[in-house]
Amino acid sequence: MRAITWHGKQDVRIEDVPRPEIVNPTDAIIEVTATAICGSDLHLYHGRVPSMREGDVLGHEPMGEVIEVGEEVETLEVGDRVVVPFTISCGECWFCENDLYSLCDNSNPNAEIAREVMGHSPAGLFGYSHMLGGYAGGQAEYLRVPYADVGPIPIESDLSDEEVLFLSDVFPTGFMAAENAQIEDEDTVAVWGCGPVGQFAIQSAQMLGADRVIAIDRVPERLEMAEEHGDAEIVDYDEGDV
Ligand SMILES: [Zn+2]
Ligand SMILES: [Zn+2]
Repeated sequence: MRAITWHGKQDVRIEDVPRPEIVNPTDAIIEVTATAICGSDLHLYHGRVPSMREGDVLGHEPMGEVIEVGEEVETLEVGDRVVVPFTISCGECWFCENDLYSLCDNSNPNAEIAREVMGHSPAGLFGYSHMLGGYAGGQAEYLRVPYADVGPIPIESDLSDEEVLFLSDVFPTGFMAAENAQIEDEDTVAVWGCGPVGQFAIQSAQMLGADRVIAIDRVPERLEMAEEHGDAEIVDYDEGDV
């Protein structure tokens, strides 16, 4: 199959790599129908994340169709359409049981290395270095999804891939930023940075009841999008004192 592979700083290629197979009975394999590129992928591209290896498959914002399930998978069937989130979570540890899936204690086999580098280890992540599990990512034709009953979000509507794909990372990331701001009715909310996560933070702030949302950036098309789709007031920080 074809996949996007990492070969060092600013060296990313499309290559043929072996197709993934079921490894554990709780795995599923999906045929990827859409996948996004993330700002976080730039950290890999610029060589800022240790423990990448030549040939690692990138990508953590995929969705697709289930084509194979391990014998212990209970909630997914071949043919299901799913969005797969960035984090890999076991569903059974203390963190997973308390809905803190990104802190899963079981899904990163290299947690010791992550702990040395970052102080704590998060869950294993798709396509994001060996210290975070060494899992092949979803910028590929096929993806192995471990703990397939836990992470994947079944899509049962006829919404297009483009309309649901961002559930994999940037929408929940932007939503969480807005949620953490504890927005109340009548609040004015300023969002610094109107990239993809910022756009979702803007729309989430509106959803959570903000009275005014002010979007701050310097890229004209980002500001236009914030105004048009996010109903935000806009400020170009190159044109005045924010
Ligand atoms: Zn991402
Ligand atoms: Zn867990």
